[in-house]
Amino acid sequence: MRRGPRVGIIGGGQLGRMFIEEALRYNVTCIIADADRECPAALIAHEHVVGSIAEEDTLVELARRADLLTYEIEHIYLKPLLRLEAEGKVELIPSARVLKVIQDKALQKQFLHQHGIDTADFALVEGVHQWEEVARRKGWSRFAVKTRFHGYDGRGVLLQDNLSETKTDATGFDVPAVIEEFVECEKELSVIVGCGRDGKLTHFPVVEMQFDPKANLVMQLLSPAQIAPQVEQQAITLALDTVRAFASPGLYAVELFLDKQGRVLVNEIAPRPHNSGHHTIEACFTSQYEQLLRILLGLPQGSTRQLCPAVLLNVLGPADFSGPYYFAGYEELLNMEGVYVHMYGKKESRPMRKLGHVTILGSTMEEVLEKAERVKPHCVIKKANHE
Ligand code: ADP
Repeated sequence: MRRGPRVGIIGGGQLGRMFIEEALRYNVTCIIADADRECPAALIAHEHVVGSIAEEDTLVELARRADLLTYEIEHIYLKPLLRLEAEGKVELIPSARVLKVIQDKALQKQFLHQHGIDTADFALVEGVHQWEEVARRKGWSRFAVKTRFHGYDGRGVLLQDNLSETKTDATGFDVPAVIEEFVECEKELSVIVGCGRDGKLTHFPVVEMQFDPKANLVMQLLSPAQIAPQVEQQAITLALDTVRAFASPGLYAVELFLDKQGRVLVNEIAPRPHNSGHHTIEACFTSQYEQLLRILLGLPQGSTRQLCPAVLLNVLGPADFSGPYYFAGYEELLNMEGVYVHMYGKKESRPMRKLGHVTILGSTMEEVLEKAERVKPHCVIKKANHE
């Protein structure tokens, strides 16, 4: 590298922020695009294009200022990026054509199906009026409905236990959607895969995600996942096959289900760093963020080997208030060995908003899990009294 390149990041949330933390070590100039002047990445980005990532002007301006672009969120206005990429005026990693498939859950499922990658059985529907017919035809008593566009963190996903309840609580779901067989999950897993510019694939150890049943949000992650070696191998093979099918450099998180019969199925893909890879900052030789950076710069990918078992806890905004807050657990947590607190610098708390995370390391998973139980009561967000 003769000069540090200029990397443009679409979105300025915590993923962008943690990416920039790594990029600073490489003398890389980071430019973010985000409508919020005070977004998590704003404080450490070299430049900030303040504007909505749903608008063409913002993206064109970012592309003008940067040598290459990546994104930390899927919900961006794709049309200008597809055009600029086709004209050879911007390099987007992963490619805009990957994002086109990811943004639409129907295209995503069809893509996986066409490439012979195992997923839950599914059908496409235009609205609620078709659910019953599909469920009967498929012989499903329970199913999942996912709106085709704009879902994230469980919003846009409806788990339907019973057809008779359908019509009462389906507000917002009477739109084109993917309807899926209900998977009785033993565990939810994730594999982060790096694909280099040379097509070389690397992967991090399989992670186990434990969800909050009410909010549909990841609460706790275990790495490595506590699974049998053959399940681990199946998960890795599926994740690598999925990323190979996209045939575009980048960092991908492949989310998987392990069902009660031992089947491993791909649930969905995020073409970016992911919540299930935050622990790699302290627990692996190379973090997911550094791996993405190396891929962007065309540098050798790093070792993804994990140094010791890790548990990650998300720090979420409490249900009972919105507004300024502080993290109340430093004193206790910093007295424990191998506990790392990351706060994202968000100005305000909101119920279930991701405000930070805590990574916990130890020499055995048993020890880490035991420590996690001692950490949990101190992962507390309190309301700030401000004048
Ligand atoms: P999002 O894009 O919002 O993360 P997901 O497709 O990951 O949406 O769904 C959110 C959660 O809903 C999953 O992590 C899982 O717990 C549950 N879920 C999704 N699809 C199914 C399914 N087919 N069967 C059972 N549970 C599901």
